[in-house]
Amino acid sequence: MITNYQLRITNFLLLMIFAISLRAQIPIYGADSLMKHYNSKMNHFIDRDSALGSFYSIDLFGISIFAGETEKKNNQIEYRVNWAELPIYKNIIATASREEAMQIMLSKGNRPFPPDVMKRYHVVPDFIKSQPTAKLPLKGLRIALDPGHIAADTAMGRIEDKYLLFKTSKGPTNVQRTANDSVMISLAEGMLTWQTANALAVLLRSEGAEVFMTRQKGNMTAFGKTYAQWKKNDYKRTLDSLLKLNPTDIHLRRLKSGRVKDENSIFRYVFRDAELRKRAEIINAFHPDLTIIIHYNVDEKNKPWNKPSSKNFCMTFVPGSFQDGELGDSERRFDFLRLLLTDDIEKSTSVSGLAGLEFQSELEVPLAKTSDATYLSEHCIPAGLPGVFCRNLSLTRLIQGTMIYGETFYQDNFDECLRLTEKPRFAAEGNQPLGGNERISEVVDAYNKAILLWAKSLQ
Ligand SMILES: [Zn+2]
Repeated sequence: MITNYQLRITNFLLLMIFAISLRAQIPIYGADSLMKHYNSKMNHFIDRDSALGSFYSIDLFGISIFAGETEKKNNQIEYRVNWAELPIYKNIIATASREEAMQIMLSKGNRPFPPDVMKRYHVVPDFIKSQPTAKLPLKGLRIALDPGHIAADTAMGRIEDKYLLFKTSKGPTNVQRTANDSVMISLAEGMLTWQTANALAVLLRSEGAEVFMTRQKGNMTAFGKTYAQWKKNDYKRTLDSLLKLNPTDIHLRRLKSGRVKDENSIFRYVFRDAELRKRAEIINAFHPDLTIIIHYNVDEKNKPWNKPSSKNFCMTFVPGSFQDGELGDSERRFDFLRLLLTDDIEKSTSVSGLAGLEFQSELEVPLAKTSDATYLSEHCIPAGLPGVFCRNLSLTRLIQGTMIYGETFYQDNFDECLRLTEKPRFAAEGNQPLGGNERISEVVDAYNKAILLWAKSLQ
């Protein structure tokens, strides 16, 4: 016979065991496979050289982030996500602003999510937006387009160091060049990406998508002003705020002292990163279902690009591939964990794989292999589909969600630079151009085909 007293003791002991097990973090069902999965993803796609072990630890209960080696040694956790907290973490990442999500994680630390956060983010966001019809296959989908760089002319192209300016001859080599067949190549990458994005936007809208562009016209920056306007209004302020964050940075100090004041340095050390951040910020605010970052590549060995190259490859980049020294601030660590725990890398790889195949077949350009460029072999990880590489670029890291970062071909390739220089086609009657440059139209078609296949896969 159990007495009332004994019952109370048993209840008390059960309660104690329950409380202790909570504190001791009993692993959830399937914890070992979660641990295996995230360890494997980390090793295959994120921690490229296995150099970042001081910033995280993955165990049976979840994953911890540390600010560095000393912190890890002293078990000073920056924050932690237990496997049981994964759903709420993913809801926060999908719905909160980046700033808010970062703040929630930093104040969470090693504790559970506070009740107000649990209440606010326990509902799974409604992701099903696609409502295709026969005429509007992209209806309901939001697509962000980012035409890379700025320049609409080679003068601005020179400032951002993204331009081609040389004479070449028609035909496959320069051997038989004569005065008659020599052609002036004058291209700025920002001009090509702008034309591509603009034509692609028209097409995607006609297929029902809601399209957002980071730049509104040639020579226009993501700040909604020209580079010259930015320099006049925002340069000093931006330089001062960067100096506050990096007081020992030698390039910034030289610019501040006036010892260095050339346009390329101002662009490179102050403008470029600030503008890339702006692009990511306005894309994230649009909450796109897909982001297309449009670039045209060059042959890295052909620098300073004053002659054509015989090489040509297409490739796409997706997030991942962090390297030593790339987790120095809490924002980078936030994205590092986000890319591990969300499906952004997987989804981007899948759609980028489609885009690569379209580039290859539509444009007849081979997909790059790791050995085809130094940056691929030294900074990237093959993402598992042909021509798709994980690469830790500002935009692959800062933009959330699914993306295609396309590098369709080498613009300095001897055939491509001639095709890109050809005038637009004209209609037989009247003099109205039928469209832009023919080669760019082919690029637009290749992106569009990949986007339509992606949209179909959502149904
Ligand atoms: Zn580019």
